[in-house]
Amino acid sequence: MQHLIDRFIGYVTIDTESDPNSQTTPSTNKQWDLANLLVKELNTIGLQDITIDNKAYIMATLPSNVAHEVPTIGFISHFDTSPDFSGAHIKPQVITNYDGKDIVLNAELNIVLSPSYFKDLLQYKGQTLITTNGTTLLGADDKAGITEIVTAMEYLINHPEIPHGKIRIAFTPDEEIGRGAHHFDVEKFGADWAYTMDGSQVGELEYENFNAASAKITFKGKSVHPGYAKGKMINSMLIANHFINELPKEETPEMTKGYEGFFHIHHLSGSIEETVLELIIRDHNKRKFENRKELIDKITKKINKKFAKQFGEDIAIADIQDQYYNMKEKVLPVKHIVDIAEKAMRTLGIKPLIKPIRGGTDGCQLSYKGLPCPNIFAGGHNFHGKYEYVPVESMQKAVQVIVKIAELTAEKK
Ligand SMILES: [Zn+2]
Repeated sequence: MQHLIDRFIGYVTIDTESDPNSQTTPSTNKQWDLANLLVKELNTIGLQDITIDNKAYIMATLPSNVAHEVPTIGFISHFDTSPDFSGAHIKPQVITNYDGKDIVLNAELNIVLSPSYFKDLLQYKGQTLITTNGTTLLGADDKAGITEIVTAMEYLINHPEIPHGKIRIAFTPDEEIGRGAHHFDVEKFGADWAYTMDGSQVGELEYENFNAASAKITFKGKSVHPGYAKGKMINSMLIANHFINELPKEETPEMTKGYEGFFHIHHLSGSIEETVLELIIRDHNKRKFENRKELIDKITKKINKKFAKQFGEDIAIADIQDQYYNMKEKVLPVKHIVDIAEKAMRTLGIKPLIKPIRGGTDGCQLSYKGLPCPNIFAGGHNFHGKYEYVPVESMQKAVQVIVKIAELTAEKK
């Protein structure tokens, strides 16, 4: 257990926060610090064909140890951390034999991780938790995944009696800013399928995610002195407000769960002359997803029609861009790759929690690039913030799942 803890802490104490405003890959130079260290470590444990390209994508191979033909499988995680919360100067705290009570993350700042708010904590009574000190995120997302993959490969190397086929592993930058899969060379990776180790609690197994689009609607206006504005002024902010009122009130992130889709307004700024409204559109169901995009168009047209005479041209312009699609379409035809992961968990006494992801993963983009790629738990909770924590036992279970998937894949049919 200590080896796993040391390895994890070694990774999380290296700041690898990504930056959505950067145009380079990796988006931040500091991601190289961990990337270079990982390459060294993969060498030390004895993996082969270790490569790191000029964008910091790392790949490596554990060769097959059986004579018969076995599909090549892959395991993937990302080494950047979310720009939503500071990833600098992370000071992890290790809590052994957790007693199920409040955990004071930072006495000075009065920051407490409490099971009365984060009920999941109670599942981990008696276990070893790694938390933050309340001033940063932890980076279990997704350095837990990296820890698990490296540890599982090390385990397989030290236990040659466990049969397995060729295994490819990859670590990527910039997943948190949605670019982790962008420069992923699926052909070079050469796996028949893969798993991202990037889920949360023990048992999570995911192969459905949102279909996603973004919409930016620009509203025009006409500024006139307010004292003499009657019949002349057009206030673009009020038109944006009109638009918002046409959206279904109950289809927002805070009102939906499971397979329910939503519209999420995440930015609104304006003046009388121009207002920009930005929102994202999410739905697991392809048809409903298309309907949502159509609704944006419909409302825009309706508003344009209403103001056609007064404004003379289109007063609202909608720019809708698809972002990613539900991987289910790509995974269902090769459903056995989910079944193997499920069987691995059951064999280990882990109850599989198969549920739709309310977001996207690198795996969904990879699935559309030709590498079907479900997502498996990495063990952490409360990602992207100061309450992030990971039970060490959950990481151990993830290691076992990786090893078992490798073993099951190599079983003679
Ligand atoms: Zn992640």
